[in-house]
Amino acid sequence: MKVDELSKPFERPGIEVLFDERAIVTRVAQLGAQITQDYAQKTPLTLVPVLKGSYVFAADLARHIDLPVHVEFIGVRSYGSSQVSSGEVQITLDTKHPLEGQHVLIVEDIVDTGLTLAYLRENFATRRPASLGIAALLRKPSRTLIDVEVEYVGFTVPDRFVVGYGLDDAGLHRNLPYIGAYRA
Ligand code: 5GP
Repeated sequence: MKVDELSKPFERPGIEVLFDERAIVTRVAQLGAQITQDYAQKTPLTLVPVLKGSYVFAADLARHIDLPVHVEFIGVRSYGSSQVSSGEVQITLDTKHPLEGQHVLIVEDIVDTGLTLAYLRENFATRRPASLGIAALLRKPSRTLIDVEVEYVGFTVPDRFVVGYGLDDAGLHRNLPYIGAYRA
């Protein structure tokens, strides 16, 4: 794939690129290799992407995990203003099959305050999986309210609102092939 050529039509003057396609491909491949190694004796692995923000990351990550994998989806909505979650989480779409006895890896787009993942970790634990882990594409340490354990993190980002590679702003920008932030 000629990454540089593909990225050109996606330039947005108001958005600064933080991680380009090449950096993302490299990091996601590393995470996939690490997960392949860690879960070699824990298969099949059930990936649970959290919709919608993680759909691009999850699709790429899954293709770098060289193990038998199931994929289940969960949808959540966090109450609060558009850019700050309240910690009150509603499950809008639940997994289709029981997770009991499964090795489960939740795939999330970004850990901001940590409230959403803290809720999901607790909720999933009640489903009695054989093991439970989290892979998050991004983490914003400056905003942590709950220090939820996240086993795999792609990149650390500063306290800026990021978009692209699945992450949206009011429904837009999910299709940008890079991760960017609005210019000041
Ligand atoms: P938390 O509960 O950790 O505060 O928030 C998690 C959710 O808030 C993420 O799954 C994501 O949907 C949204 N979020 C938090 N920070 C950002 C950001 O910088 N950009 C985007 N697009 N969404 C964010």
